[in-house]
Amino acid sequence: MLFSQIIGQQSVKQKLIQSVQQNRVSHAQLFIGRSGSGSLSLALAYAQYINCKDRSDKDSCGVCPSCVKMQKLAHPDLHFVFPTTTTKKVKKDPESELFMEEWRSFLSKNKGYGSDQDWYEHLDVENKQGTIFVRDASTIMRKLSLKSYEAEYKVMIIWMAEKLNAQAANKLLKLLEEPPEKTLFILVAEQADQLLTTVRSRTYLVKIPKIDQTDLTAAVCNTFDCRQADAHDAVMMADGSWPLAQHYFKHAQDEKYNFQVFQQWMRLCFKGAMIELIDFVDTLRPLGREKQKALLAYGLQVFRNSLLANNELMQLVMLPEEEKTFNQNFAPFVHHANTLSMVSLMEEGIRQIERNGYAALIFMDISLNMMKLLRVKADKAV
Ligand SMILES: [Zn+2]
Repeated sequence: MLFSQIIGQQSVKQKLIQSVQQNRVSHAQLFIGRSGSGSLSLALAYAQYINCKDRSDKDSCGVCPSCVKMQKLAHPDLHFVFPTTTTKKVKKDPESELFMEEWRSFLSKNKGYGSDQDWYEHLDVENKQGTIFVRDASTIMRKLSLKSYEAEYKVMIIWMAEKLNAQAANKLLKLLEEPPEKTLFILVAEQADQLLTTVRSRTYLVKIPKIDQTDLTAAVCNTFDCRQADAHDAVMMADGSWPLAQHYFKHAQDEKYNFQVFQQWMRLCFKGAMIELIDFVDTLRPLGREKQKALLAYGLQVFRNSLLANNELMQLVMLPEEEKTFNQNFAPFVHHANTLSMVSLMEEGIRQIERNGYAALIFMDISLNMMKLLRVKADKAV
């Protein structure tokens, strides 16, 4: 990984680069920061830079044989240890070495920004917590006692070092006290206070701060090709985390889309405009099942908000202004005489789409029923 591929973190990058250029690389470093800030990505870029055959004062070259292998995570002198647990594949005695294939695909997928929770999901063991076992520490000792194959530095990255169990941490301590020559340990952790004090005291601390808002905004705008103003809300909520910024941005886009489409749909139902409704329903067909379901689920949300609005509880609903106005205008048409029917209409629609029903027919049927339900008077007895 190149430093230039990492979002923001200019001052950390600068310090890491300087340590190499001034030949004062501490043999054991502890990167402390949240996974969403890019601490593992920085460790990867650092490992590549330190071994690059043609580095500049800003970055690795990206094309020398060492860089190429580092980028493929296939360099023989780049080692990893991370939390593992028993899985369908590894039924007993888990250790990092047995999960290298999954680890590489995990890193390629999220470029080093994944959390431990993401890792367990990737291993398909969401409900388990991983550990770094003493077996891992033994493997570290074995690997590092070998001469380096081709690199200047052997690099051992220990990800989520707070998951080292006591036995493993104690074994590792010996290595940190008497490190093999030309070996760089990078411990990456989120919470320093969960590490043994003795481990902490033998490592050089590198604090990885949250990603700066300006840098995060630029990253959202570049990735999703949007304006700064559109990135604003997602960046605010993400609190310096790149995966969260992406999550909130995509979610907001989906919400906005659902809002616009649902609004248009309900207007046509109000008007009872059959020809237009047929055309409209046709545009929903190519959406795919997940988006069709999300649109109906959005409808459920609107009905719920309408009930809140009718009970003067709209202040509980956090929505962009335009969407809030729509909900308020829609609310008088949702009342005790039709709410439950509207809800079951949408729920039944979701069920039918899940069962692979014919979308155009499902949406047309809902449209016809909504036309009727929207005309039901509020004072009609239940
Ligand atoms: Zn290079």
